[in-house]
Amino acid sequence: MAELTHFYETFQPSHYDIFIDINRATKQIKGTSTITGDAKTQSIAIHQKYMTISAVKADGVAVPFKTDDANEAIRIDLSKTGDTTLAIDYSAPLTDSMMGIYPSYYEVNGEKKQIIGTQFETTAARQAFPSVDEPEAKATFDLAIKFDEHAGETIISNMPEVKTENGVHYFDTTVRMSTYLIAFAFGELQSKLTTTKSGVKVGVFATKAHQANELDFALDIAKRSIEFYEDFYQTPYPLPHSWQLALPDFSAGAMENWGLVTYREAYLVLDPDNTALDMKQRVATVIAHELAHQWFGDLVTMKWWDDLWLNESFANMMEYVAIDAIQPDWHIWEAFQTGEAPMALQRDATDGVQSVHVQVEDPAEIDAIFDSAIVYAKGARMLVMVRALIGDDALRKGLKAYFDAHKFGNAKGADLWSALGQASGMDVGAIMNSWLEQPGYPVVSASVVAGKLTLTQEQFFIGDGKDAGRQWQIPLNSNYEAAPELLTDKVVTLGDYDALRSASGEPFRLNVGNNSHFIVKYDDTLLQDILANFTELNAIAQLQLLQDLRLLADGRQISYASVVPLLPRFADSTSTPVNTALYTVAHNLLKFVQPGSSEEQNLRAFYDKLSAQQVTRLGWLPRAGESNDDQLTRPYVLSAALYAKNPKAIAAAHDLFTQNSANLAALSADIRVLVLRNEVKNYGSADLFEKLLTAYRQTSDASYKADLSAALTSTSDASLIAKIIAKFEDAETIKPQDLRAWYRGVLSNDDGQQAAWDWLRDDWQWLEDTVGGDMEFSTYITVTSGIFHTASRLAEFKAFFEPKVNTPGLTREITMDTKIVATRVDLVEAEKDAVNAAIAETVK
Ligand SMILES: [Zn+2]
Repeated sequence: MAELTHFYETFQPSHYDIFIDINRATKQIKGTSTITGDAKTQSIAIHQKYMTISAVKADGVAVPFKTDDANEAIRIDLSKTGDTTLAIDYSAPLTDSMMGIYPSYYEVNGEKKQIIGTQFETTAARQAFPSVDEPEAKATFDLAIKFDEHAGETIISNMPEVKTENGVHYFDTTVRMSTYLIAFAFGELQSKLTTTKSGVKVGVFATKAHQANELDFALDIAKRSIEFYEDFYQTPYPLPHSWQLALPDFSAGAMENWGLVTYREAYLVLDPDNTALDMKQRVATVIAHELAHQWFGDLVTMKWWDDLWLNESFANMMEYVAIDAIQPDWHIWEAFQTGEAPMALQRDATDGVQSVHVQVEDPAEIDAIFDSAIVYAKGARMLVMVRALIGDDALRKGLKAYFDAHKFGNAKGADLWSALGQASGMDVGAIMNSWLEQPGYPVVSASVVAGKLTLTQEQFFIGDGKDAGRQWQIPLNSNYEAAPELLTDKVVTLGDYDALRSASGEPFRLNVGNNSHFIVKYDDTLLQDILANFTELNAIAQLQLLQDLRLLADGRQISYASVVPLLPRFADSTSTPVNTALYTVAHNLLKFVQPGSSEEQNLRAFYDKLSAQQVTRLGWLPRAGESNDDQLTRPYVLSAALYAKNPKAIAAAHDLFTQNSANLAALSADIRVLVLRNEVKNYGSADLFEKLLTAYRQTSDASYKADLSAALTSTSDASLIAKIIAKFEDAETIKPQDLRAWYRGVLSNDDGQQAAWDWLRDDWQWLEDTVGGDMEFSTYITVTSGIFHTASRLAEFKAFFEPKVNTPGLTREITMDTKIVATRVDLVEAEKDAVNAAIAETVK
């Protein structure tokens, strides 16, 4: 059992001089970490992982030390406490784990190349240099790096380079910062540079496998985001430059290293002339997210990992605030409503989910708290609630005070609440703690009881849930003035319903705008009233209605059979949020039908009915001057028509393939994946398969790569599926960073599921060895649980994962995902007859 004290309690660094010598050929790192600081005790601990320590000196004198690998430590005995300069000589392997200092691989014109980059969050700086690797242990850093350099290579870091001497690159002293935000990278890089209004240098860097114009979009968004934040936060960007670097191998989406943000290539470089609008929006929000962190996370950092939400929830809200300000025509908050909101509501409804604020000590558990649906999406919704309550003026005033008070230091959640509370005059902490500290969220039941309009809150569960008596302070946002601003009790009665209804002249609604983290269950009287006045609802209200009904159906509070007949009335909406919500519900019906059954035939006919008019209206190709909504809606309706096996849609996609077969990448990116998948499914052959697989290996366009992967994994040919599985462990074809998407693709294919599932179970050890040190590892379990819906798969899932339940970092995921599959199996068993009858009735 690891001993879990914070090393900062034993030694408090103020400055590092770090020298690292990296040899790509031998895959070895050696270096010296010289740390000046204050020894609080004579026995101190410094972090290291996977290192060989050859010498430790304190103030120039060799001192006794021993490495303690179980605790990722060097234990050092000093002769005194107080001011001390440690010099630690070390060597370490350069590994391919996408953590610490690691190589990324790529090809230019068939020639194999490497870029060395870094990824230190959460606890991998200790793999690069001995350090007190805790967010609270802020210090200044002088970085000096040597490598087996050849002509044409560039090295970049958090700060500008000041000199090169004897092949060693010296970087300017950093500001006071946390170890996990240190970064550097070198290799043959191309770049595009600009300057903000305030004089900050902004740059985008990528390998030369990309066309130069693929860097332009990111450069523009980065520059304008920084300018936006400098104004919004009323706090200058704290460093001389802001570099954005795309790395060919990257585990997460992006990483907010201070002054040198690293990205997965898919989230930074893109073809400005042929990239789908939703992908451009995604890239823009990722960049804005990382740049929000340059202040919130980097300038002011959480004291310990339990307050990770402070960083992530905030950056996740600000990415939308920023992009909405700099690109208002995108209506980017709609993407929040169709993406983050349902993700948070789905995951947060399973008993056993973590709270946003979560206690954590063990390094193996720290990575496991990065639950994107909770720490990011739910946390962002919480802050959206706060923003709605206090308004932007108080938010900005509070943030400025927060930055002023804690800059170059650390903070806890309470510090943010107190700054926002002082700025707004509201007790923000009291309201928010019910959301921050408690897992889950409430369903508010609105009903007419003995003539009185009554509201009741209770925790909402999908699947079994233990009633823990939780209550929330719920911003109700009702359209009736009789409803309180906050529901703080379990039950509240608003008054005589008939009188309220006639006074207001419109149906009773809660959570108008869908910004509070709860769902509403209207009784039949209230729901029928809303449906009867359905055309009065705006797009977000329609999305919300569909979303809440879907969740209530997943939670067995209503039946999917009652939702099915409502869907056609949404089918001709011209709004992206409505269509997204509609097809999310429609997609949820797939689990109720057996492949090849007459029920499946009916469901296909139902999809045809939903999509037919829209396919006629929108056609296959973008039209000059069409709305963003039309661009974003088209893929949903075409995908539905293809699922429906509509012969005209299949033929139209085939025609597009034939016309573009000489240059498939040039197919309109909005619909390219549909055309490719249609070809593989309906006109597939071994030749086509090889052609697409070769294109996958050769292209550097991440969007096109993703389309090809989705197409290839949809094949129904068993021998081709076997070929795909054989490539899973071939990093030259499928990079480990992209493997999960391939696995998901094959697993969700009825004809490939068995092979993918067998691979996961047979080669689990390989997977653990390859991505096990990584926060993405547990998501292979999540992906699997998102697809399985039969009793036999549930039994296999349990048999395989239950023995692994005590693996550090996997416990919560295995427990929750077992419950998620079991709940879905129960739902299908209980409701499939009624749901299929409802579908049959609708298509009669
Ligand atoms: Zn983040």
